[in-house]
Amino acid sequence: MADKDISANEFSLPSEEVEIKAELMEAWLNGKKIEFLTPKTMFDVQTILRHYKDIIVPEKDVKISYPEDNEGARCSVDKNEVFISTAHLQEGYVDETIGHMIHELNHLKMSDSERQTWATCYSMLETVLDSIFVPEDKDNPECDYLCLKDIVLSDPAICFESLYSPSCEVEEMKYGNFLRQALRDIAFLLNAVEDVRIDTLCQPNLKRYIDKGDSRIFSQWKEKYDAGEYSQNTLMDICFKLLFHHKGYLKDPFINDNFCDTNYILSSSPSEYTPVVLETFKEDIKNILSICGVGVKSGGSFLSLTNPCDLYMGNHSEDGEKILSDIADGDSNIMGRAKSDVGEITFAESAIRDFSNEKGFTDNRGGYAFRQAQEQHSKPKIVAKDVMAVIHSFQRIKVYETTEQLSDSWNEDSASQVDYSVVVYDAL
Ligand SMILES: [Zn+2]
Repeated sequence: MADKDISANEFSLPSEEVEIKAELMEAWLNGKKIEFLTPKTMFDVQTILRHYKDIIVPEKDVKISYPEDNEGARCSVDKNEVFISTAHLQEGYVDETIGHMIHELNHLKMSDSERQTWATCYSMLETVLDSIFVPEDKDNPECDYLCLKDIVLSDPAICFESLYSPSCEVEEMKYGNFLRQALRDIAFLLNAVEDVRIDTLCQPNLKRYIDKGDSRIFSQWKEKYDAGEYSQNTLMDICFKLLFHHKGYLKDPFINDNFCDTNYILSSSPSEYTPVVLETFKEDIKNILSICGVGVKSGGSFLSLTNPCDLYMGNHSEDGEKILSDIADGDSNIMGRAKSDVGEITFAESAIRDFSNEKGFTDNRGGYAFRQAQEQHSKPKIVAKDVMAVIHSFQRIKVYETTEQLSDSWNEDSASQVDYSVVVYDAL
């Protein structure tokens, strides 16, 4: 970008007519209409984001990254990092992007760390799997049954990074896809509750940005809802309904009957509501795992389990303790909390019988379909390298307020004080 003049607005969005949706931000800029995503606009967006960051989490040093992907907004509570994918910005959703940022910052302020969430989900998963049994030989009704927990957790390659990191090759793990999907789906349920809590408790002037995105997504979702697409009450259906019910967009009969108290969500901390949410929806969680468990695709399906003794030899990790410890990074507080989150939850034992179900776990189930739908919304139209370059360059600009004494060497009395700002472009 050395040969381009960023002050001359050379970095507007390429070619296509993209309508800029930025009414709320324009109000912040004294009503100045934003027509294009120019470098100046990107600078203003980042300024407003920094400003809101200082309001929401003034004590935290938050790293903000703008990955060139369509994964939506996300954050790492552990690392104090927020990721805002550029896809949404490229589509002109400026206000909604600011809304995403505010939402993620509120996660940093109020939510459990991802290790805690995954440790809790893992404990829940273990408890569920411990109650599901699989016939060693599906054609022999007299055969022995194996515990699904022993089968799935027998994989020595399971660790936090391998399950959590989207870039990690789960094919390496025998039941990696199953575990990752299952954990994501349970996490998605807890996340729906947490999203209700943090968005509703958000300061009203900041919440407007979030509401703008929510109402757009809801109007799209409601068409499917009205057409009965979410009437089966799978875990995914429940997550959607819970979110929109408690955000006040609809009154869903299922949520109303099972988990209707919005004030409870708003007045509880994650450590308080998590056991309640898991207990409330435990059979729904078990259902998706039972259905999906029979269709494990990756590497070793149960159908190919020819020698069950393998499970108990060599690599079998001791009742999952090692895995939990790895997810919690050895943090005994996280492990203790995970255990207490699910400590009271019990399941009746049950067996999976239908081994002929070939449907894989990565079909439209759980949070997966939701993520797919979200991702389809925000496919980047173009990889706008120029825009990225500008975003990155503005990220590195620092403004320092400086005061300097100026004095005339021949007249000490005329010394004057000047305040000015220094812009330092940190090119590293
Ligand atoms: Zn969220």
